[in-house]
Amino acid sequence: MKNITLLGATGSIGKSTLSVVDLHSDQFNIFALSSNTNWQQMLELCNKYQPNYAVMVDEQSAEKLSNAVITDIQVLSGTQALDKVAAHQDTDFVMAAIVGAAGMSSALCAAKAGKRIMLANKESLVLSGDIFMKAVAEFNAELIPVDSEHSAIFQCLQSGRSGLNKIQLTASGGPFLNTSISKLKSITPDQVCAHPNWSMGRKISVDSATMMNKGLEVIEAHYLFSIVPEQIDVVIHPQSIVHSSVYYKDGSTLSQLGNPDMRTVISYAMSYPQRINSGVAALDLTNVPALEFYQPNFERFTCLKLAFEALNKGGNAMITMNAANEIAVEHFLNHQIGFLDIPKIVDQTLSTMKHTTPNSLDEVVNNDLVARETTREIIKQYE
Ligand code: NAD
Ligand code: MG
Repeated sequence: MKNITLLGATGSIGKSTLSVVDLHSDQFNIFALSSNTNWQQMLELCNKYQPNYAVMVDEQSAEKLSNAVITDIQVLSGTQALDKVAAHQDTDFVMAAIVGAAGMSSALCAAKAGKRIMLANKESLVLSGDIFMKAVAEFNAELIPVDSEHSAIFQCLQSGRSGLNKIQLTASGGPFLNTSISKLKSITPDQVCAHPNWSMGRKISVDSATMMNKGLEVIEAHYLFSIVPEQIDVVIHPQSIVHSSVYYKDGSTLSQLGNPDMRTVISYAMSYPQRINSGVAALDLTNVPALEFYQPNFERFTCLKLAFEALNKGGNAMITMNAANEIAVEHFLNHQIGFLDIPKIVDQTLSTMKHTTPNSLDEVVNNDLVARETTREIIKQYE
């Protein structure tokens, strides 16, 4: 039996994780659950899974949950509680599925405690890739990607890295691949969050439409697979059936295919190196739409260009880009700025912030905070 700490239990990845756990309750036990503010949904989950710990980051929500649970589940609050349940000696696997920079500290704690980290929170690597990968190696942690592209590459690379030429991330291109720029100006948050292939949280849905998500994933791939930016390629594939590919010197290309459903990725992270039923229907190649592949247009998808530039620049550029994006997306979701303002704000923040090279986690966190403040100042021109 493996004990799982599920961080971000009330989110999209959290729900899919629980549905895989439901299929294999003889193999996996929910040890701890976390959520930010949604205590009502956490109450339902607590009643069903009876975890040892339930963490509500928000203090008032923790109090409400604590008053409502009837069994002896320990309800904790605050970000330190996330770190605690991630590193707890009784947990085996940590699903890091909190959205944004808020997920970094607990994921890093899981790494330092030598856990199997099932990493959905790509922002951890964007902010602290070097520190994170060093901790994974030093504390003998196991890092399994929970991102469809990176899981695909991870699976393809099981055949080895000898003669590896490049990896290629597929991108759906989001819901507005062919929408005219003039129409994009007035796109609403709800339109953005209606992704054609994947059902995801609101922040990553916006990132998917701007292709910042692919930009973050390029950086994620760089750290996960220790590969230089020149060997990372992006191809638009609107059907989301081919999840990513690796290319070898001998002309061979390996790809991983499947229906677009994160339960495949999650179950693989939970069962690796074995495979278990995920609840996802088998792919029927005779019954899928024609598979198309295009070069991404870097002028249209400025965020993807900015991410490659930030990766090449190194230092604090990736932290700044991520912070600016999180703030801009939040403002877009709150109807305070337009969709097309997001890349402009990220670009402007990157040119405003001084280039530095953070060497410690404290410096990373500080840069993240300063970049957020800088973005908030810049956004005032757009509201
Ligand atoms: P979501 O918005 O659906 O859920 C986010 C979860 O994080 C919720 O449980 C919420 O309570 C918690 N949370 C939010 N803010 C928090 C904070 N400040 N502190 C602590 N907890 C907080 O998001 P999601 O779509 O499940 O995505 C989660 C992560 O997985 C993201 O990093 C995303 O990039 C990554 N990811 C998601 C998908 C997908 O299909 N949804 C695919 C690949 C990667
Ligand atoms: Mg992805």
